Amino acid sequence: MPIKYDDEKCYQFHTKDVPDRCFVCSDNSTRLLIVRQIESMMLVHLCPDCMVNDTSGYLLDNTRPWLGEKGKI
Ligand SMILES: [Zn+2]
Repeated sequence: MPIKYDDEKCYQFHTKDVPDRCFVCSDNSTRLLIVRQIESMMLVHLCPDCMVNDTSGYLLDNTRPWLGEKGKI
């Protein structure tokens, strides 16, 4: 948690989210997207495949300059 924001509560990750794995398929993808799960309105990591498979369930969250965990994005 390097930086604190006033709107921190809007940017909480899902309690079951793991930073280096896809939230849906648990794939350890080299490129994970940070998206908002509409059902819970919390942030999760998704691999591109799962994002494409369920575009209605997740929103790309581009409101912040997210830094990739692995720096490969
Ligand atoms: Zn996936």
